Amino acid sequence: MEQVVSTDSDGNIDNTEGVIASIVAPENKSTSTSTSPKSASSNKNLNQRKIIHIDMDCFYAAVEMRENPSLKGKPIAVGGRPNSRGVVAACNYEAREFGVHSAMPMSQAFQKCPQLITTPVNMDLYKSVSKIIHSIFHEFTDIIEPLSLDEAYLDVSDSLHCNGSATLIAEKIRQRIFESQNITASAGIAPNKFLAKVASDWNKPNGQKVITPAEVDSFVKKLPVKAISGVGKVTAKRMTELGLITCGDLEELGQEGLHKYFGSFGERLYKYSKGIDNRPVETDWIRKSLSVEDTFAKDLPNLESCLLEIDKIYEELLNRLKRAKQKQRLFAKSLVVKLRFDDFETTTIQMAGTEPDKDAYKRLCSEAWQRGQRPVRLIGLGLQFNPPDMPEQLSLLEKRHPPTL
Ligand SMILES: [Mg+2]
Repeated sequence: MEQVVSTDSDGNIDNTEGVIASIVAPENKSTSTSTSPKSASSNKNLNQRKIIHIDMDCFYAAVEMRENPSLKGKPIAVGGRPNSRGVVAACNYEAREFGVHSAMPMSQAFQKCPQLITTPVNMDLYKSVSKIIHSIFHEFTDIIEPLSLDEAYLDVSDSLHCNGSATLIAEKIRQRIFESQNITASAGIAPNKFLAKVASDWNKPNGQKVITPAEVDSFVKKLPVKAISGVGKVTAKRMTELGLITCGDLEELGQEGLHKYFGSFGERLYKYSKGIDNRPVETDWIRKSLSVEDTFAKDLPNLESCLLEIDKIYEELLNRLKRAKQKQRLFAKSLVVKLRFDDFETTTIQMAGTEPDKDAYKRLCSEAWQRGQRPVRLIGLGLQFNPPDMPEQLSLLEKRHPPTL
């Protein structure tokens, strides 16, 4: 029997690599996952999805104001120097009031706002902040599609956090970002990406908007065509000429008419005009592990009581695994048990295995318990997965010759 053992004080069941998230969800039950970059995943239940679009508020400028609080309240632009041919990479809301916007030549920005303060682009800093924000996203879902350093779509359809409420998850994410980074984010919550993105702009900065499935029709009817991402200046002008002001107007013009005037984009416009967008949230991340943990209201006094709890946690692990397998192919390589004793000492133990196995978990639990022989406040059961590029044959081979326990 091959066993790798690790004990740590912060209780990560997998403290090897990758992003690790462990959040106590309602019912005192938590799930933790770790992931690594690679393939895409698809989504299901197209009409009942819960998509969040998170957009940081003037991200680069916000980070600069955080680093140098004396800049707060003043118009600032991040970018190249005014006497060079630099452009505005980002600016704060104070600068925007003067008509400054990103991609504008810095010299022009100074004409509009002579008192504009400029700071150089500090990309390494923005990247490091972005990384932390992404790790916050991962506490809530693994299905994340980053659009840029400061923007991402999250599919939280299957998230168990906040009782499954996407609205509360968005609030919590924004709160966590603010507490951790002292900068604000806005969020849009909707059944698809198109509407989530529109909604995140609605109550900006530092706000959020929800469009429920029931509200989609009436919301879209009145939505100005300019709010559609992909409708640039030229298209917007053409639409105005054609008297197309709202998405309701687009729908009235119909599929053929839209195709006639806007070519292949017309087909997308027609779907948008009906509030339809079936594009999945495409993640670059794949799951490296999955685990279910339970923290008990009252410490479990002995090994016997721990073994009894494993039945329940095991059931939950199987449920989670089933859901995870609907999103991507997963090949387990090891089984992991984590125990946290009443003195917060935490121990993890693992063994090779390609399938969850209740008896094996019980044996691992017994062995882990011997290390502390104290009351237990938390039990975690988990699986670690092979990287996706690992030949599938290996898993099959392991199945035919299961490791002896
Ligand atoms: Mg932004």
